[in-house]
Amino acid sequence: MPAPTSSSALSRINDVAFYAHAREEVSALAAVCAHLVRLHHPDGEESCASCAHPWPCASFVEISRLLA
Ligand SMILES: [Zn+2]
Repeated sequence: MPAPTSSSALSRINDVAFYAHAREEVSALAAVCAHLVRLHHPDGEESCASCAHPWPCASFVEISRLLA
């Protein structure tokens, strides 16, 4: 856990609570990203099988950028 950024006890408690849940929240976010990547894949004809936009679709590009 990083060094506290405030000497306030309330801020310190909030930091502890934030970091206590961070691992679960990052795992949940990663699962959502993986699910979105699986949804948006090429259909074999240069379009996205999920949203029908030209491949690679904007959703796939943005998710890939976030995961890079
Ligand atoms: Zn798509």
